[in-house]
Amino acid sequence: MSDAPKAAQRPVVAVRDLVKHFPVYKGFLRRQVGSVKAVDGISFDIQPGETLAMVGESGCGKTTAGRTLLRLVEPDGGHVHFRGVDVPKVDGDELRRLRRYMQIIFQDPYSSLNPRQTIGQIIGGGLLLHGVVDSPQAAEDRAKELLSKVGLQPSYTSRYPHEFSGGQRQRIGIARAVALNPDFIVCDEAVSALDVSVQAQVINLLLDLKDELDLCYLFITHDLSVVRHIADHVVVMYLGKVVERASRAAMFAAPRHPYSQALLSAAPRTDPRQRRARIILQGDVPSPIDPPSGCRFHTRCPLVHDRCRVEVPHAHQVDPDHFVACHLYENRRDPVSITDAPGPAAR
Ligand code: SF4
Repeated sequence: MSDAPKAAQRPVVAVRDLVKHFPVYKGFLRRQVGSVKAVDGISFDIQPGETLAMVGESGCGKTTAGRTLLRLVEPDGGHVHFRGVDVPKVDGDELRRLRRYMQIIFQDPYSSLNPRQTIGQIIGGGLLLHGVVDSPQAAEDRAKELLSKVGLQPSYTSRYPHEFSGGQRQRIGIARAVALNPDFIVCDEAVSALDVSVQAQVINLLLDLKDELDLCYLFITHDLSVVRHIADHVVVMYLGKVVERASRAAMFAAPRHPYSQALLSAAPRTDPRQRRARIILQGDVPSPIDPPSGCRFHTRCPLVHDRCRVEVPHAHQVDPDHFVACHLYENRRDPVSITDAPGPAAR
């Protein structure tokens, strides 16, 4: 969304027009023939103490967005303001110092821990690297405290990752992420690989740690029931763009963007009186190498009109805290329902 959301307070992270394109090469000479527009000018803020959920179908660019704003992937443009600096503009020692305060929890608890290191080394390594402690023994002692904080036995510091279950490994990943007292953590599908019962425990642990350590999260997920449980705000992404941003309550009660309406129609509802018909969109998601002109959703949108095919929609503010990138909301605030569309609107 190009228009920056209005902030009531100073955001911890302010992302503006962030871009990441991956070149596509072909042929013997490996000539560049195009680029995957994975993240294409996204903007949002994350406020102190907030969990911002980023949702969308797989391939919409949400994982790339999370990694690009941490500089695990180099951005091609845009700004990420954090602790008074623009993260894409710093390098070397300054970037290393910042990284201490921006952490990530990965999806796969099986591959994200080095199998040759003990749990003590995995958790304590960053403490030594950043000079938070001055000896291996002090790092080991702190690792024990952190294991206890995430609900594991302190004595596990001498064990190796293969000795633990998926849920335990994710707790170890969380202990590693909070070891350096970060301000902000990207949780990249952090509970997707876990059994449902273990998911709930890990989510509750993340919520407890958020309050205790004054954290904020960017929670990247495709699981809408998790979003309903954990998010304060939600951004919806489609083909590298943010199409809607709102509080969780507003997003689930009355999504405005036609894509958000279809996506959220799949969300499970606890109250049977609020059940909505599932909206199935026609057509496949277009290639991010050659995304549609104008509104990227126009090839699948039942409410498409001529303007959508040529003009990129800007973010329109429909409520103080609710932005929608759709031409339909240029002069209106109330929802236009996708199911009111003429023709095969795909219900
Ligand atoms: Fe649909 Fe047009 Fe809105 Fe895009 S701008 S979501 S095509 S109505």
